[in-house]
Amino acid sequence: MSVQPSLGKLIYRKDLTSDLAVIRIQPSDGSPVPDFKPGQFVTLGLKLDGEGDKITNRAYSLSSPPEEKRYFELYIKWAQEPVPGKFTTALFNMKEGDELYWRKPAGAFTIEDRKVDGTPDERMLILVASGTGLAPFVSYVLHLKAVGSKRRIALLHGARNAKEIGYHDLFERLAKDGNGSFIYLPTVSRPNDPSSQGWTGHTGRVETLLVRRDSSVSELERALGNRITPENSFFHICGYSGTIESVISILQPLGFVSNRNKRKDGSFDIKIETYG
Ligand SMILES: Cc1cc2nc3c(=O)[nH]c(=O)nc-3n(C[C@H](O)[C@H](O)[C@H](O)COP(=O)(O)OP(=O)(O)OC[C@H]3O[C@@H](n4cnc5c(N)ncnc54)[C@H](O)[C@@H]3O)c2cc1C
Repeated sequence: MSVQPSLGKLIYRKDLTSDLAVIRIQPSDGSPVPDFKPGQFVTLGLKLDGEGDKITNRAYSLSSPPEEKRYFELYIKWAQEPVPGKFTTALFNMKEGDELYWRKPAGAFTIEDRKVDGTPDERMLILVASGTGLAPFVSYVLHLKAVGSKRRIALLHGARNAKEIGYHDLFERLAKDGNGSFIYLPTVSRPNDPSSQGWTGHTGRVETLLVRRDSSVSELERALGNRITPENSFFHICGYSGTIESVISILQPLGFVSNRNKRKDGSFDIKIETYG
């Protein structure tokens, strides 16, 4: 028998653009957010117009860390192409105070902190996101900071334009304060778009930051000051399948292996979450 969904209230909504928002949902009964692991998703449910009592569900990664017990934070794109998305069209019509259903967090896109032999995995975490694929990494980074982790992190985020580089101020600040322990590389693929006006950072798709060019180091390696290998780096990739396939095709020749195709001993150096 499936567990009944709980009710939640939309308590905060910040629109970054007309189709990209950060929202917060609080359990309606006032209870704290249940325990979860950074990288997990929550399933939201809504009764859509014309569909009676049927609840339509969709998965959304949590961008808040598990230490935040007051609300779930989510980073959501309104799907509009080629046709308006069923769920996000209803979600973007909601205002603060409106209610929706949620089911407790689940999912395996979590931080690997042990190697297959059980020893601590201390390799640098390289987090690669396209669009709202950033959400789980916001949770990772805030959690690792909250627990005082010494693991070095590099976060690479690609979006179409500068306005879609969500959580930019937060990550800029963490990079500035991190003394080299947190490297942040945002990039926009449409630098000439009016919404990119004033952007002086990297341009191109996020995977281009990993391509070794003439000097035979990538933008990422230049920022890190060392070459990436499966011995020193562990990748997490989140977003649309095109980005994931491109990143894997760049990393495979360097000896990296993904969790979709582990080595005989069960080890891998790339973990993937696809949004569709
Ligand atoms: C584990 C996981 C985590 C996720 N986390 C996030 C997150 O953090 N943030 C986020 O924004 N999304 C996330 N997603 C995606 C999310 O679950 C939804 O898939 C997304 O919001 C679209 O839902 P929708 O109902 O609005 O669109 P849908 O109605 O399901 O449509 C999906 C796409 O198909 C297209 N489409 C629909 N009908 C047709 C048709 N007849 N012909 C052609 N095209 C059509 C739509 O235009 C749209 O682009 C996640 C998905 C997974 C699996």
